[in-house]
Amino acid sequence: MTPPSSNLLLSSLSPAMRDSLVSRATPVEIPFGTVLYEPGMPARDAYFLLSGLASLVITMPDGASAEVSMVGREGVLGATHLLGPAPIPTMCTMQLAGSALRVPFTHLQNEFQSSADLRSRILAHVQNQAAIVSQIAACNRIHSAEQRLIRWLLMASDKTGLETLKFTQEYLAQMIATQRPTVTVIALDLQQRGLIRYTRGTIRIINRAGLEASVCSCYAVIKRLNPVLYQLNAGGGQRTGEAQMSSSSRPSGMGSVLGKSA
Ligand SMILES: [Zn+2]
Repeated sequence: MTPPSSNLLLSSLSPAMRDSLVSRATPVEIPFGTVLYEPGMPARDAYFLLSGLASLVITMPDGASAEVSMVGREGVLGATHLLGPAPIPTMCTMQLAGSALRVPFTHLQNEFQSSADLRSRILAHVQNQAAIVSQIAACNRIHSAEQRLIRWLLMASDKTGLETLKFTQEYLAQMIATQRPTVTVIALDLQQRGLIRYTRGTIRIINRAGLEASVCSCYAVIKRLNPVLYQLNAGGGQRTGEAQMSSSSRPSGMGSVLGKSA
């Protein structure tokens, strides 16, 4: 599977709106573990991911934490901050290194308020995120650690287009709200069943169908959300599909960042 490198939300916009955002964008590489938004803090920038994956995590006062959602190239990081003044309790970190177009938050905010086109896309994305958060909240309470781990692996693979993912067991435990020894036992079992290969912090999916047969029902619910998100494009045909942004809309130095689309 080729790693995708275009942002679906940007691609869904009119050329004029896309150009307005891209003209103010700075291409950035974001390493693993980078904190993009601290809990309760205002946003200085928004990020349209071109590759990689960001995680939204809630941390309790005793240090326990759990992931409540993940965002990849289907949306924009910082969208929730556009909706109102409430402090956002999640911490947003890069769980898989990637590249992004970084746009000043105030610029996105101005465009969000003035453009019905952009507003409808971003609101659809935020609604999508709210649905994922609700599903994962129930998943973390009801489904087994094995089901949650498989669901997480499949979601991470879908959002990045990658079959090989670099994650430590400690990190995985944090993501699915369990303990590291539990992840160790589950990973060993999945490996013995021929579903994954796990070596030195790298997980490789080797039997996706097998994983899908073992995952909880949440995965199918979440997977159906993205086509709904972009069905806005279905009537008149997708404006740009998953195509790269036109060369005229790229800021200088963007060629190597945009690369090729999925
Ligand atoms: Zn579940």
